[in-house]
Amino acid sequence: MNLLEGSVGVEDLVLLEPLEQEPLLKNLQLRYESKEIYTYIGNVLISVNPYQQLPIYGPEFIAKYQDYTFYELKPHIYALANVAYQSLRDRDRDQCILITGESGAGKTEASKLVMSYVAAVCGKGEQVNSVKEQLLQSNPVLEAFGNAKTIRNNNSSRFGKYMDVEFDFKGSPLGGVITNYLLEKSRVVKQLKGERNFHIFYQLLAGADAHLLTALKLERDTSGYAYLNQKVSRVDGMDDAANFKAVQSAMTVIGFSEEEIQRVLEVTALVLKLGNVELADEFQANGVSASSIRDGKGIQEIGEMVGLNSEELEKALCSRTMKTAKEKVVTALNVIQAQYARDALAKNIYSRLFNWIVNRINESIKVGVGEKKKVMGVLDIYGFEILEVRELHPITCLGPAPVTCHVSSCQGIPWTKVDYFDNGIICNLIEHNQRGILAMLDEECLRPGVVSDSTFLAKLNQLFSKHDHYESKVTQNAQRQYDHTMGLSCFRICHYAGKVTYNVNSFIDKNNDLLFRDLSQAMWKAQHPLLRSLFPEGDPKQASLKRPPTAGAQFKSSVAILMKNLYSKNPNYIRCIKPNEHQQRGQFSWDLVAIQTQYLGLLENVRVRRAGYAYRQRYEPFLERYRLLSRSTWPRWNGGDREGVEKVLGDLNLSSEVAFGKTKIFIRSPRTLFFLEEQRRLRL
Ligand code: ADP
Ligand code: MG
Repeated sequence: MNLLEGSVGVEDLVLLEPLEQEPLLKNLQLRYESKEIYTYIGNVLISVNPYQQLPIYGPEFIAKYQDYTFYELKPHIYALANVAYQSLRDRDRDQCILITGESGAGKTEASKLVMSYVAAVCGKGEQVNSVKEQLLQSNPVLEAFGNAKTIRNNNSSRFGKYMDVEFDFKGSPLGGVITNYLLEKSRVVKQLKGERNFHIFYQLLAGADAHLLTALKLERDTSGYAYLNQKVSRVDGMDDAANFKAVQSAMTVIGFSEEEIQRVLEVTALVLKLGNVELADEFQANGVSASSIRDGKGIQEIGEMVGLNSEELEKALCSRTMKTAKEKVVTALNVIQAQYARDALAKNIYSRLFNWIVNRINESIKVGVGEKKKVMGVLDIYGFEILEVRELHPITCLGPAPVTCHVSSCQGIPWTKVDYFDNGIICNLIEHNQRGILAMLDEECLRPGVVSDSTFLAKLNQLFSKHDHYESKVTQNAQRQYDHTMGLSCFRICHYAGKVTYNVNSFIDKNNDLLFRDLSQAMWKAQHPLLRSLFPEGDPKQASLKRPPTAGAQFKSSVAILMKNLYSKNPNYIRCIKPNEHQQRGQFSWDLVAIQTQYLGLLENVRVRRAGYAYRQRYEPFLERYRLLSRSTWPRWNGGDREGVEKVLGDLNLSSEVAFGKTKIFIRSPRTLFFLEEQRRLRL
């Protein structure tokens, strides 16, 4: 029988025959072409981005999915949300929704659909509705400050987000907590060709009324701003001016005061104006190169706006104070260094503003301590985009296929027969505490003296040249494999079914996140209360000599906390797939989808699920049922249950067909089970 018959394939890949890569892709393609973007693997949801509004959302559909059980209707994200919510409400199990996929695959849209479903079905009443509104309105605000147009996605999230929504015992929402990860702050000062800076800058310039613009000392035209210099100022189908109004009103709904909104916009404007501070070479009599500000007007305006002495600001930008045990030494920065300092300042101001906004939202939506809560967490973390240091993380840590996590980690089985990729090796390569790539990066940043990206790479090459999942020009040369696609400054991690190349250029900078103390002290002196609060370390009383943790170290510890949080919850998985590179509806690019299904491990997912779900059993009942099939265990057996099962299966030559878990036996194929049943029947 060909289950692919009919136009829309199988709704659950567990039913797929034969279970191979090609039919799996074919099935997704058939469904995609009939606008069936959702497909299950058991209770895992696969979603293929439709790039068009499908008439399958909204109140009518929400009502439908609320009333039916999982398999009664077509696969849908509402069905998954419904199962998660009902299990939370009725069975008291905390839930998490894990959404993975690469940039543009539809993760953020999926998270919004889940949230809107839950909001629609969870309780009523004025109080509850206002909580819901606040939770939902956090989205446009975070998107304005944290999303940008990239080549891959016009509304790409440039930060990772995890949101806990908290409910009371009846299942009505009480509030929540948002955690953000690694905003891509380099975007503040530089964007790739064809990309934009964060939406808020364009929204502000397009949407502010004349009065506000004047107050912020801004011009409406984006072309005058060095930080918005990529020529793309507009995005098709995106109305920056209207979105600005929406952001302002969302902030109000969340509970930002008018003054707070104003302060946030002032700091945003400050970043733009900082980009226009031009620095010039200045030759000093003693031959030391130094720098100064070319045009005083910009810096004057900045000073006025945030209550800062502009001369002091100039000094902080163009020189650096170093403290030794005995004295302070002030050195002049050359123009390159001063530009670097200026950009570092802009990046720091913006990313701290972003964190401040997240915290401010959390303050509004937080739930009183002591209330007993049920929690639903939603994780929306970017997929991998090549060549970025921050993207070392999500793929590795969030990559493991769902079932494997549970089957093999709880049961400790070496499940070699199911061809499943062991993500642990790569996690170790990257994350190992002393010997992982991130640890090396931290170590390099700490070394005094001449540290550069290339010394970092050399170190990796030396350490990992023999590692199966590590490649670089050097290791390739050693093995006489010449691959011209890899540059000298690159290394590669060989993930399952796909290699990802990382360029080490500016790894150290990005990790170091260097902001000279002169600048944080200058910011702390500003009269602007918000700006000042963003630089607590600028307070001379606070100035400790301790080096702040590097980006890598910070991220590592926040991921550890996240993992712990997620492991305490019942997971629900959404695997998002991007069907083509052009953000086009209806186009299904076979090769592109093939790569994604491979690194998402979908085929393995189906295999493990097929095996694990239908045919696993505790040792004791299994032994009771089948011990009559072996002379060793019948009529009498005095050993343990597991040993008994091993004996029975060993005698029947079936050991290679099963895996022995800690408490359960796992059988891969229904054939084995039928065989056992048949043997048993013959004996009885
Ligand atoms: P990601 O967060 O994975 O980078 P997004 O969720 O931002 O991707 O999706 C990218 C774009 O794809 C969205 O802006 C939207 O235009 C489109 N899209 C994604 N999911 C859907 C959907 N379910 N229905 C319609 N359009 C979608
Ligand atoms: Mg996103």
